[in-house]
Amino acid sequence: MDVASSDQVKAWCLANGFHPNRALGQNFLVDVGALEGIADAAGVNAGDTVLEIGPGLGVLTECLLARGVHVYAIEKDTRLADRLKANVEAELAARGVAAPGTLTLVAADALKTDWDALFASRPFAACVSNLPYSVGTRILLDIARNPAAPPVLTVLVQTEVAQRFAAVEGEKPRGQAGVWLQLDFDVRIVREVAPTCFWPKPEVGSSVVRLDRHPCSLTPSERAVFYMLTKSAFMHRRKQLGGFLRKQPQFPGALDALAAVDIPPTARAEELSNAQWLALSKNLKG
Ligand code: SAM
Repeated sequence: MDVASSDQVKAWCLANGFHPNRALGQNFLVDVGALEGIADAAGVNAGDTVLEIGPGLGVLTECLLARGVHVYAIEKDTRLADRLKANVEAELAARGVAAPGTLTLVAADALKTDWDALFASRPFAACVSNLPYSVGTRILLDIARNPAAPPVLTVLVQTEVAQRFAAVEGEKPRGQAGVWLQLDFDVRIVREVAPTCFWPKPEVGSSVVRLDRHPCSLTPSERAVFYMLTKSAFMHRRKQLGGFLRKQPQFPGALDALAAVDIPPTARAEELSNAQWLALSKNLKG
């Protein structure tokens, strides 16, 4: 099958009694321009080892393999994993790909993956994935928060979610996920992908986001304070930080810490930059 052809994908589903599962976010990419755009944005090279979450029918996987990339893919749906394993070689040969990379395919739930063990097992140059809508943010945060995560993460997610990842202080979609991702990564929306590029067609638009690791000066204990502080602050995002922190017994001396880093006690969570969250985390005793 040509996995980038919506007609052939539909015919395969019909012939095999396969109904794309909404809960698993099974909207398959069927647009060559969008696929090549994701691979270009990821900037991967032949010989790189790349992590892919949710290869599905394998359309992005095959695009990466055709570029000589070694793909380590984790797919929860065993029917899709079995199909890809059985057909990937023939499908690449049918496209005339002479020197594909290798594929390691694991049928498993990415939410239950032991990332420490996986990242210690081989050096990943990047993660490139069209993430399932429902659990995409959780999977990306699990990966991004791991200190041994790949240095570049390129993911396709719902546009609204992409905007949350990239939002800076004062912007409406600013929230915990963006603050956490921006702790270790520069986050940039690279391009839009229209609903017509998928089958079945999703109801919302999607965007490609690229995250590039940058150094972070927090010690492990300051990092723990950063996560605890931002999590509770965004749970009460409409509250003023001074009043809110004063009532949090886990942060003694919070008002002094706010003053020490020039943050007015009237500020609200979404108004703080990542640099301010960092400074506050360093000054707070967790
Ligand atoms: N990569 C394919 C593409 O671009 O057409 C499929 C992407 S589709 C949006 C998301 C894929 O993630 C599906 O194949 C789905 O079965 C898989 N998936 C959903 N939840 C998962 C999980 N927790 N762990 C691993 N894979 C998952």
